[in-house]
Order: sequence, then C-alpha cells, then structure tokens
Amino acid sequence: TSFSELGLSEPILRAISAENYSTPTPIQAQAVPHLIQGRDLLGVAQTGTGKTAAFALPILHRLSENRTRPQPQGARALVLTPTRELAIQIGESFATYGRHLPLTRTVIFGGVGQNPQVQNMSRGIDILVATPGRLLDLIGQGFIKLDRLEVFVLDEADRMLDMGFIHDVRRVLKVLPAKRHSLFFSATMPPEIAKLADKILTDPIRVEV
Ligand code: AMP
Repeated sequence: TSFSELGLSEPILRAISAENYSTPTPIQAQAVPHLIQGRDLLGVAQTGTGKTAAFALPILHRLSENRTRPQPQGARALVLTPTRELAIQIGESFATYGRHLPLTRTVIFGGVGQNPQVQNMSRGIDILVATPGRLLDLIGQGFIKLDRLEVFVLDEADRMLDMGFIHDVRRVLKVLPAKRHSLFFSATMPPEIAKLADKILTDPIRVEV
C-alpha cells in the first residue's frame, strides 16, 4: 500500500512526502481508510508503530473536507493523552501533517499557567490535544466547552489507568456529545480497559499491530 491509495487529500500527501515517509506503517494502512469513512476504531498498538499519524492524518482530512468553525471555547477534535510530553509530541505531529491546511490547534497540560491556554481557547480551536487534569479544570471554569465536539481520541488508555487518570477520563466523557466519531488506543487490553473501550466506541473496527 502507498499513502496515495489511502484516500487522503493532496495537501496532506504533500506534507507526508516532505517528511520522507515512503510507505504507511501497518496500523496506518489498516486504520486510515476506515477512519476517513468515519468508522470508530479500537487500536491495540504501542508507541513507535506510527499510531499518531494513523489518527492525525484522517482527522485532518475529515476536518478540512467538512469546513465549519469551532464554537467559541469549543473544539472540533479532542485528543486526550496521559502526559505533557505526549501532548506536545502529538500537537507537533498535527502541525507537521496539517501544515498546508487552514486548521487551528493547541495543546493543554498542567504545571504551567492557565491564562495563555484560556486565551488560545477563547475563539475555539479545530484540534485540541490535552491531558485530563488541566482539561477538566478549564471545563469546570467554563473556559472550554466540548458539547459540539466531532472527534474524540483516547490515546494510551492503559497508561491512563496506571497513572490513576481513569476517573478523570470518565468525567471528560460525560461532557462529550453522544453522537461523535471515537478512536481508542491502548498498548494492552486488560478487562477494565476493554470495558472502557466498549463504553466509548460504537461498532469499531479493531486493528492490532
Ligand atoms: P508514533 O508511533 O506515532 O509515536 O510514531 C513513531 C515515529 O515514526 C515518529 O517519529 C514518526 O515520525 C515516524 N513515522 C510515522 N509514520 C511513518 C511512516 N509511514 N514512515 C516513516 N516513519 C513514520
């Protein structure tokens, strides 16, 4: 499989070429065509498999094909990830792959002042990458509103559990619209994670790499 066969738009293919990616990784080849169609996904994959591009590319594709403005304080896509380092990395991946698209993005995490993050969210943002604690904090203060979210990605679900963030994840879920596109990634599938996946996803395709 080549990237041009996956159904991605030309501005995205150009960004991938500039990164010198020659062929999609297995998770990209298996997941991207379904995600472009809006199908839910359960991805059993570790870091290093190319999973970030596997979700970032089709999200960029769909958001740019279906152009609407985010609501003030709102986001069209949310990626929830356990650590600040991962959040920054994922934000950079969206910036790289989306460099030819007119989409906005921002990253939110704890341990730094909230004012710049609040400011970045004021007009709404297309793609929001966040860690759970600070996200809930800003939602609670009314600085972020997710009731019109289109796409939700839960990244590294098993690590969320290990780090004690599972209740925070459940709290975030409560403020998301029921009708949405959902993607769930975990390196392992212990019973509690399988149960959470079942709650979040609707008729998902399962990709294990
Ligand atoms: P990830 O598993 O998302 O953390 O990605 C691991 C690394 O693989 C990152 O440094 C990406 O830039 C790189 N990468 C992702 N997809 C491809 C690809 N199709 N070809 C070459 N490198 C890739």
